[in-house]
Amino acid sequence: MVRTATCPICQKSLTKADGTTSEHIPFCSKRCQQADLYRWFAGKYAIVEDLDPERLAQEMFQAEDQTDTGE
Ligand SMILES: [Zn+2]
Repeated sequence: MVRTATCPICQKSLTKADGTTSEHIPFCSKRCQQADLYRWFAGKYAIVEDLDPERLAQEMFQAEDQTDTGE
């Protein structure tokens, strides 16, 4: 029985089309790795069903904007 490892963020297979495995295990990409790090850091995605990396990336940008509120 073969278990295919999948990315916990986007559920994509960690095995690429050319047969090699992601270098960002257990994530499929650096982007998902960062998304997971952010999720853990923010703590507000502890329980969430379908994580959307696109949305996470958006919120990451918004969080960066918020550090800039000087005026
Ligand atoms: Zn992924």
